[in-house]
Amino acid sequence: MKKLLLLLLATILTVSCSNKDSDIKKDYPIKPVAFTNVKFTDNFWLPRLDTNRKVTIPYDFKKCEETHRIDNFAIAGGLQEGSFIGIRYNDSDVFKVIEGASYSLNIHPDPQLEKYLDDLITKIAAAQEDDGYLYTCRTINPDSLPRHTGETKWSQLKDSHELYNIGHMYEAAIAYYQATGKRTLLDVAIKSADLVDEIFGPGKDQLHGVPGHQEIEIGLVKLYRVTGDEKYLNLAKYFLDQRGNADGNKLYVYGEDGNNKVYTQDHKLVIEQSEAVGHAVRAAYMYSGMTDIAALTNDRKYNDAVDELWDNVVSKKLYITGGIGSKYAGEAFGENYDLPNLSAYNETCAAIANMLWNQRMFLLNGNAKYIDVLERTLYNGFLSGVSIHGDKFFYPNPLESDGSHQRKPWFSCSCCPTNVVRFLPSLPGYVYAYTKDDLFINLYIGNQANINMDFGEIIISQNTNYPWDGNVKINIEPETKSKFTVSLRIPGWVQNKPAPSDLYHYMNESDQRSVIKINNEETKYDISKGYAKINRQWEKGDVIEINFPMPIRKVIANEKVTEDIGKFSIERGPIVYCAEWADNGGKVRNLLLDKNADFTYEYKEDLINGLNIVNGISKSLSIDKSDNSIIEKEQDFVAVPYYAWAHRGNGEMTVWLPYEKSVANPILPPTIASESKVSASYIHDQILAVNDQVSPKNSNDHDVPRLTFWNHKGTTEWVQYDFNEESTISNIHIYWFDDGPDGGCRVPETWKVTYLKNGEWKEISKHGEYPVLKDEFTSIEISNVKTKSIKLEVKLQENFSGGILEWKLD
Ligand SMILES: [Zn+2]
Repeated sequence: MKKLLLLLLATILTVSCSNKDSDIKKDYPIKPVAFTNVKFTDNFWLPRLDTNRKVTIPYDFKKCEETHRIDNFAIAGGLQEGSFIGIRYNDSDVFKVIEGASYSLNIHPDPQLEKYLDDLITKIAAAQEDDGYLYTCRTINPDSLPRHTGETKWSQLKDSHELYNIGHMYEAAIAYYQATGKRTLLDVAIKSADLVDEIFGPGKDQLHGVPGHQEIEIGLVKLYRVTGDEKYLNLAKYFLDQRGNADGNKLYVYGEDGNNKVYTQDHKLVIEQSEAVGHAVRAAYMYSGMTDIAALTNDRKYNDAVDELWDNVVSKKLYITGGIGSKYAGEAFGENYDLPNLSAYNETCAAIANMLWNQRMFLLNGNAKYIDVLERTLYNGFLSGVSIHGDKFFYPNPLESDGSHQRKPWFSCSCCPTNVVRFLPSLPGYVYAYTKDDLFINLYIGNQANINMDFGEIIISQNTNYPWDGNVKINIEPETKSKFTVSLRIPGWVQNKPAPSDLYHYMNESDQRSVIKINNEETKYDISKGYAKINRQWEKGDVIEINFPMPIRKVIANEKVTEDIGKFSIERGPIVYCAEWADNGGKVRNLLLDKNADFTYEYKEDLINGLNIVNGISKSLSIDKSDNSIIEKEQDFVAVPYYAWAHRGNGEMTVWLPYEKSVANPILPPTIASESKVSASYIHDQILAVNDQVSPKNSNDHDVPRLTFWNHKGTTEWVQYDFNEESTISNIHIYWFDDGPDGGCRVPETWKVTYLKNGEWKEISKHGEYPVLKDEFTSIEISNVKTKSIKLEVKLQENFSGGILEWKLD
């Protein structure tokens, strides 16, 4: 009841503000319909939301307990003895799971979960210092801090994540307050934000810094919305304005290193930024905050900047899966059109941030193109991030795999699992939006909703089997007969536009059009800003039927995306497909498809959790050892939805499929190295990299798999090949990984090779020294050695780590 009252109050407040002409607050011109008003009834998303509630939320809390994340609060609060264990930003993970759990509580009251949250919030409140400061690692022991935290409060903002953590706390606090009406965490948030407001600002005695990882901007805007206190909005804008500001008093400067500033988007004033650069999650959180400021302050410069940044992303930096942030190095945006597939980073958090941003862009502009990007990300680059069972997660989401990628139960930096858990329950809030006389239907998902428009309540429901077919039936029941517009989003993929730019196009245009019927009668419509606008008197019992044709489409990337030349990807409706090893004879990276291949689709109820697959014919290519000719073998081809990959064991996967022979990758004849079993003293990346028969372009090639010993520095490490039977070796070729001068890996100081003879390791006798070369294979000739095992021993340079890109033997 308390909750209802609260929501009612909040609604009244908003309505009264927007109705009073003298005091119109600036805001988004379009309002989203809250997730609390929309209940899913479908077979695609509802099971995922249920899994999130029943599995992922308790699972994430259990992991937070096991990894000491929750104890850290209790210890900082003096409720428990102990020391800080973990990483400086681990507080944020707990806040994010609280946020997700609170959203869930709105829809599914659960006294046990609420009690758990109350206890947890007691610990968090205890951990807050008297002045409002909350950062468990410093409070527990200010004299023994984890690295990158700064000697004193706020002294190392670039890395400390002090402001990032509490930004997530504000979001959690508001979510819990709105779910339960309980203020404890909200009061912690307000006390914290008041402290931050006192410490940071333009004043002479204030710190002029910016957070190294954006997030607090979003949290402060939400705090402004809940409290109505404009100082939080101003503070959010201050942090944004201060970015890239060469303010002479700026306490925190990134040093002379320009790259470092780009990494955190501190290289230019935000309103002067036009290219998406640096760490992708930071960037998209920042763009979300900037869009909030554009809406809430009507600042034209902010508006123009987010428009330009958005154009840059969708025209040059967006994967077909909706993923962003192509580079492993710095988890960052790459150069324009630099969209590698195997090494694509595409952090799950970046997909979420991209959706948060596009939703805001839609609310600001009312254009369906933003929802096109959101939907593409939702069904593909985001959804791949969590397993069907809800307890395994991808951090990077590549578009191609050599078999070394798998979802993991948790990460030491576990931002992604805790971001998934808060995004999913909020998804119903992305379906509808409205103005005073326009109702937007953005996503097609079976649901029942009630929407409070100015003229009264509308009950609306959708019945559909989307995304597997495009028929949607919408029942509209306004409280009283009313004239208004229903804006039905016609997805870009229906209008021959996979993305709102020239980054991708369909190989063949489709002339199938969506048919809209109202009460069984076909109606004409015009498309404006991506919406079919239907303005009429609506009354109880009205039914809209719409059909989105879903032919199987082949997508071609802009020719400037060199990785995708001569290849197409497959999609149907909003779903991007990939070929996976399990359906295609064990391998897929050697496939060649016909440019004019015909495909069919079929629903497989028993595969994963039920999905449409795509069937066709392909050729598998391999190289004949005797004459190096290419052997082509015709075989059945199957593609599965990209989001569903990696549920059936380790193996190859690819989204982009060659139709030009010149870019196909026939299987190479096996070598001694490729057939041997490989092991190492320590594996940071991918052990398979050393014998995958993929040669790098240079020692700093981040596009090929690698094995590094990161972050072992100056140590002696080894890599070993075991053969099935005794083999004779006469030449050794090694490609060292070296990402200097920026990275921490270098070619080794020294190395040597030993082999197993009569149960003992013996050093090989070689002709000449062990040279160390960069950007090419280091080769040595050895006297013929007959052995079952050979071992590389590597002494790393002092203060540096190192690694291997490829190790060949003849
Ligand atoms: Zn993440």
